[in-house]
Amino acid sequence: MENFSRRKFIKYISLSPFLLAGKSFAIDKSTRVHIFLPEKPFEYFYKKGKEKGGRILVIGGIHGNEIGAYKTADILVDTEIEKGELIIVPRSNFISVLANRRGYNGDMNRKFSKISQRDADYRFVISLKELIKAFKPDVVLSLHDGFGFHSLNKNHWGQCLVIDEFNYKNFPLYKIAKFVIDEANKKISNRKYKIPVYCTQTFTSDRHLEQRKALTGWCLNQDIPAFCLESSKQLPSLKEKIKTHFYMLDGFFKIYGVKIKPSFEYILSNLNEFIKGNSYYLTASINGKLKRVKNFETIKIPKGCEFRIVNFGGTRGTFPVAHGVNLNWKDFYIRSSLTIYLKDDYKKVISFNIKVV
Ligand SMILES: [Zn+2]
Repeated sequence: MENFSRRKFIKYISLSPFLLAGKSFAIDKSTRVHIFLPEKPFEYFYKKGKEKGGRILVIGGIHGNEIGAYKTADILVDTEIEKGELIIVPRSNFISVLANRRGYNGDMNRKFSKISQRDADYRFVISLKELIKAFKPDVVLSLHDGFGFHSLNKNHWGQCLVIDEFNYKNFPLYKIAKFVIDEANKKISNRKYKIPVYCTQTFTSDRHLEQRKALTGWCLNQDIPAFCLESSKQLPSLKEKIKTHFYMLDGFFKIYGVKIKPSFEYILSNLNEFIKGNSYYLTASINGKLKRVKNFETIKIPKGCEFRIVNFGGTRGTFPVAHGVNLNWKDFYIRSSLTIYLKDDYKKVISFNIKVV
């Protein structure tokens, strides 16, 4: 994530918005500072065990405000695989994760049947589809934190295992889901938190037509079974959300023959170790001269200069964001001042100001 090619930026300069520039075609660059931010990555991680087993693809973060979902996927990246193969896309919609919004560019999970090339999510949706086609997993598991508790209200999507049909082609989706929830519910004592199966009947009824545009609907059309694992946004802690996901993942990993090390049980009892932050840093260049940025610093930059973020570090969710600037933009001009945050997912961890002088 730390190395950014210059080529990528240049490609987009012709599309760059001229922030605070007034008339966009008549900007006087000598009176402004040109800001360059790195391109948001599409990251995935492939792991293979020594022992032969199944192939599972786990996706987190399609909805950017579902922290339990993307943190669960992220933890899997730090495990070893003893058996089978695993691909993890922890933050499939990283822009929305940084914004802590369901869909910064609209709901990404409605863009899988078709998407315009002009859509800001295009690169990410296409990358995800290409990855699924190339890896050909035995199953796709899409992690979410839904609203409410399905066991209390059948219209709520929180705390359930969603299938598109009871059976689809040769896939016994309900049978698989039932095994998973029976295993999971043995470990859940609070009745409200129990996990039912929610069948949306995506293709045989018109009650959930939107699901035909979703990732799982698209996967089924590609002959790949897919499930949505939903914890609840209303669970009292991040740990409870991760627990819900782990209980279900455990069942799926058993069915499809994938084994991780350490075990789900071990991770849950040592969770703080797996979700801790890191030491964060950010290096910028001002007209090619490198500078390590300090927290709360104000950097004075003469008009006509270029300010470029060249390097930063922390966790896999760490990324720089310009305050008040469209998150899809990679370069723009400023006339007076700008605040930039280094974020760890939705949290600000470093903040600094740029002042044009
Ligand atoms: Zn969701």
